[in-house]
Amino acid sequence: MKKLIIANWKMQLGYRASLDLARLYTKQLAGLKNEIVLCPDYLSLPAVSAILKKSGLLLGAQDSAASARGAYTGEVSPADLKALGVKYVILGHSERREHLHENSAIINAKIKAALAAGLTPVLCVGEKIAERESGEARPYLAEELRHALKGVKIKRASDLVIAYEPVWAISTNKDAKPIDAISASDMLGFIQSKAANLLEKKPRVLYGGSVFPGNAADFSAQPVIGGFLVGGASLKLTDFKIICS
Ligand code: PEP
Repeated sequence: MKKLIIANWKMQLGYRASLDLARLYTKQLAGLKNEIVLCPDYLSLPAVSAILKKSGLLLGAQDSAASARGAYTGEVSPADLKALGVKYVILGHSERREHLHENSAIINAKIKAALAAGLTPVLCVGEKIAERESGEARPYLAEELRHALKGVKIKRASDLVIAYEPVWAISTNKDAKPIDAISASDMLGFIQSKAANLLEKKPRVLYGGSVFPGNAADFSAQPVIGGFLVGGASLKLTDFKIICS
C-alpha cells in the first residue's frame, strides 16, 4: 500500500527558497509511488500551489483557523486553503501547542472547521519526555485523542489522518533520539485503535520525529505505519528522496 509522506517545512525557508525547493521536488520526486505532500509556510502556499499543479505532488498547510470566516486577525480560513488546492492540514503540532499555547479545545474546533471545508486534518499527538519516563504515555495519548476528536464525525477513514510525534523525538529538541520501529509500531497500533473507537472509522496513522534516511526503511516495514510526517529531513533533496522512495 502507498505510504503518505508529509514534508513540514515549518518556518525554516524564506519565500524564494520555498519556491526553489518545490520546483526541485516536482522534478526529482515525480513518479515515486508514495503519496507526497509539501507543507510550505502560508506566504509561499499560492506560488507553491501553482508549481505543484500536474506534478503529482500534493499541497498541505501547517495550520488553519477554527472558523471559515470572521473577525479573526491574522488567521487563515480553511475554506481559502481548500480553494487554493490544499488537501491536507497539519493541526495540533507540538510546536503550536507549546509556543502558541494551542489547547485541545482549539485543536478540536480547528479539526471540525477543516473537515467542514473539505480539508483532511493531520492531527498530531505525542507525549513529552515526562510522560514517557513515568510510564504515562498511553493514558496521555488517549486523553489527547479524546479531547481533540470530541464530536468529530468523518464519513470515510481517509477523511482524517493521525500523526504520532513523541515530543522528545522531534529533531528540534537537541536531545532528540528516534524511537525504534517496533516501539513506534506498538504506539501507533494503540493510537489507531483508540481513534477508531472515537471516530467509528480506522484512520491512517503516521510516525513523525527524527525520521531520516537511515531509519525510514525500518519504520516503513511496519504495516501499521501508514507514512511519515517529516521536518528536518524534508528540507534536503537527497534525504527526502530516500525517505519517499
Ligand atoms: C516535526 O516537527 O513534525 C518533525 C517530525 O520534525 P523532525 O522530522 O525534524 O523531527
